[in-house]
Amino acid sequence: MGHSAKRRHELPRMKVKARKVYPHMDTAKWANHLKGCSCNMCCNPRRSKLFSGDELLTMQERRAAAAAY
Ligand SMILES: [Zn+2]
Repeated sequence: MGHSAKRRHELPRMKVKARKVYPHMDTAKWANHLKGCSCNMCCNPRRSKLFSGDELLTMQERRAAAAAY
């Protein structure tokens, strides 16, 4: 089963979960990923305007950089 086929197969289960997480949203439109907004707390820190410089890197990348020296 490929990636997309698996996602289609899991969709009914994911919709049930999405309705549990967002009870006010009957359409379960975020069933794919459960991400409902792109505010500074939910978004990718790399794209956030709150951070700059080293803070834009993921924790994994910061650890790798620290280990390199
Ligand atoms: Zn948010």
